[in-house]
Amino acid sequence: MQMQPIPAVKGDYHLEDYEKVVESFDWSQVEEQFSWYKTGKMNIAFEAIDRHALGVKKNQVALYYKDDTRREKYTFKEMMEQTNKAGNILKQQGVEKGDRVFIFMPRSPELYFCLLGAIKLGAIVGPLFEAFMEAAVFDRLNDSKAKVLITTPELVGRVAIDNLPNLEKVILVGNDIEEDHVTVDYYKSFEQASKKLLIEWVEPEDGMLLHYTSGSTGKPKGVLHVHNAMIQQYQTAKWVLDLKEDDVYWCTADPGWVTGTVYGIFGPWLHGASNVVRGGRFNPEDWYKTIEDYGVTVWYSAPTAFRMLMGIGEDLIQRFDLTSLRHILSVGEPLNPEVVKWGVKVFHLRIHDTWWMTETGSMMICNYPTLAIKPGSMGKPIPGIEAAIIDDQGNVLPPNRMGNLALKKGWPSMMRSIWNNPQKYQEYFTDNGWYISGDSAYMDEEGYFWFQGRIDDVINTSGERVGPFEVESKLVEHPAIAEAGVIGIPDPVRGTIIKAFISLREGFDASDELKEEIRLFVKKELSAHATPRQIEFRDKLPKTRSGKIMRRVLKAWELDLPTGDLSTMED
Ligand code: ATP
Ligand code: MG
Repeated sequence: MQMQPIPAVKGDYHLEDYEKVVESFDWSQVEEQFSWYKTGKMNIAFEAIDRHALGVKKNQVALYYKDDTRREKYTFKEMMEQTNKAGNILKQQGVEKGDRVFIFMPRSPELYFCLLGAIKLGAIVGPLFEAFMEAAVFDRLNDSKAKVLITTPELVGRVAIDNLPNLEKVILVGNDIEEDHVTVDYYKSFEQASKKLLIEWVEPEDGMLLHYTSGSTGKPKGVLHVHNAMIQQYQTAKWVLDLKEDDVYWCTADPGWVTGTVYGIFGPWLHGASNVVRGGRFNPEDWYKTIEDYGVTVWYSAPTAFRMLMGIGEDLIQRFDLTSLRHILSVGEPLNPEVVKWGVKVFHLRIHDTWWMTETGSMMICNYPTLAIKPGSMGKPIPGIEAAIIDDQGNVLPPNRMGNLALKKGWPSMMRSIWNNPQKYQEYFTDNGWYISGDSAYMDEEGYFWFQGRIDDVINTSGERVGPFEVESKLVEHPAIAEAGVIGIPDPVRGTIIKAFISLREGFDASDELKEEIRLFVKKELSAHATPRQIEFRDKLPKTRSGKIMRRVLKAWELDLPTGDLSTMED
């Protein structure tokens, strides 16, 4: 039972005629957008900042930053100077092209200066989410052989400096820093650093970002991205984020995750848009206030955040003026149809789902403003991308068959390696040129893709294949349910049965009657075979720090199995 498609919106959008563009598009067409097309000199940080700082946009605000204690803004010209200064600090500490520079700190303007400053030197940046604990930090610094770490006095205690022989310098962003042969005082060096920096011009295939994946399915992988990725980052920010000159854009993701760098830094700044960064934890009131205060026009967030906002109810929304919003997007997890419905009701806008992963480097399958949205579907592959559903032998399956979501190898932002693990990298590809995402999906007759779950999460029950996402989405339609995680557990009779872990909305109490009501609801609205035979209420579901429900952890708890790597799990 699917919701009615929500028609395409009318207006002036970058991707006007999808079908026509799909036929004629080729990635080389994007190259003329960049200054290196004429100069031959490439560096993504130059394209994102300096190009605008040296042109008509120099006095436009590039970064609006706010958290509980700071509220600052920087023009493109100021961003150029600040990133140059940060680059000079790193250069002074011996950073050279190809070195790994890690950044482990909460969001702050300094994080952005350092990240871009390091890339200006041709270094490879590894951003680490601030909530990582000792083992997670150690694994990543050790695996990447990081040479320099930028962190804060509050977090440096989690870094086992003595056990990291390759780590030469630790730059501390904070007050009252005592310098020694390893420790460098950021602010002191910053004051003395020059505003001018000789940018390291690189090759398109040189590395710039080393992102460890979110750890939803297992041990995080170190994914290497190169400067050439800017081609697709730019083009997707144009087609899908639909960024325009005067947009005020807000991506809620932390740069510790790929969305927070690719679309929290490069997407908007390659377009010269004003970029809002809000530091600190999720806070519904302050989120709406951020949109109101800055007049955010384009907003990119995640299902977990939308579900939390939805759970709080509409009274709060009424207190803010959110009419500046013109375009909303989502990523990271499947977007439940119920959330799309809520978006239309409260924002009078469609929430556009986008599907991609750390390894793909930018968006792959999306809903565009000019595409009719089928709620629950991820949309269609962007022009230039060939996607298909294939079986385990690499054969393309016909429409409406569930299988491996695969992409034809070779798009510009594709990862170039898994750090230290060439074998793992090879495992992503079939002999006939497909990249296997690890997600399960089907494509309908109209070419829309429907996410079903991670390959390992698909449930085989009574001879039927059930995607956990479909059941979860039905569950969250029930008024009592805030969030749901669905897994299969072995059953002597049925092979596998479906178990749902459910967190309730405020004001609802767990009871056997409610369990029964929920079961009947799914049975009536979805199907008997997809109905959870077991339901367990939990205050919270296990999630990654980026907000993804960790089904493998539910499964491990349920079946008394080892939980595996928990470095990215919330407290
Ligand atoms: P790990 O690879 O370490 O297990 P992860 O896969 O969660 O972690 P990411 O690269 O951050 O790491 O996330 C990519 C995955 O997130 C996709 O493979 C997909 O399962 C899920 N995902 C992202 N966007 C969507 C979406 N729009 N709809 C459904 N799932 C999505
Ligand atoms: Mg993954």
